[in-house]
Amino acid sequence: MSTRTKTNYKICCPICSLSNKLEKFEWNQYDVIHCKNCDLDYCSEMIEKEVGGDSSPVHMEGINMMADVFFKTGDLANNYAKKRKKIYEQILGKKCINILEIGCGPGVFYKSWETLKVNWTGIDINPYWKKFGEDNNIPIFNTSTESISKKFDVIMAHQVIEHVEDPLSFMKNIKLMLNPGGLIHLELPNQDSFTSKLRRISSTISYDYGFIQPPMHLRAYRQKTIKYLFNNLDLEPKMVFTCSNNDRIWGQVRDYNFNQKLIFTLAGKIGLGSLLIGLAQKINE
Ligand SMILES: [Zn+2]
Repeated sequence: MSTRTKTNYKICCPICSLSNKLEKFEWNQYDVIHCKNCDLDYCSEMIEKEVGGDSSPVHMEGINMMADVFFKTGDLANNYAKKRKKIYEQILGKKCINILEIGCGPGVFYKSWETLKVNWTGIDINPYWKKFGEDNNIPIFNTSTESISKKFDVIMAHQVIEHVEDPLSFMKNIKLMLNPGGLIHLELPNQDSFTSKLRRISSTISYDYGFIQPPMHLRAYRQKTIKYLFNNLDLEPKMVFTCSNNDRIWGQVRDYNFNQKLIFTLAGKIGLGSLLIGLAQKINE
């Protein structure tokens, strides 16, 4: 157990730490806080947590969906990995040797990166994925970020940071695990997306306040929030933008149907895609 005193997020923002810019309001019997400084929406208290972690849980239906996707989407992962490798290496200014994926789930990227001669390691807080890795020969470990002493060229955290209670500490740990000049690649829900805007019209039609979805997601980010987070930790923002779930380079490895693809593409084209992507480089120790 951690012995550090917990920050009270009722009075201070988890990203920018300011206390005089918080706007509080009620949405379906839960309290939401909006920080007017960094544009984060959040709930101050995390009631339900993953076992052994400081993050909100992923429910079983999500887990089953991801396991299912693993067996269907190898080509999609290969395409993404190939395109991303080029972009990573342009920023790194060297070959990408290894990648750590935090919250890797079934490890859909493992084979793709290995094919490209990039050593991939996955960690996930849910022990289900360790067993899944053992059954399918994928190096997935059920360890915390604090226990890793190795350094990496790229650290991916996809659909993770919105679950993390204390994003500053989480990102500080990531920074420690990066090689000098290394890259962090975040992917998360975009609180300014079309879907999120619909869910913020009225609490009578949506239990969720955009991507605030208790008890799973208690942090909802916008582009400004991610830039704030990077700058706050002295990481150099390289790319911060929004895109559709099925973006050709930055999309998710999922088995989408035709209608989903159509809607996602349209939303993405008008700048209201559901994904928020952030790439930043470690310039200083
Ligand atoms: Zn803030």
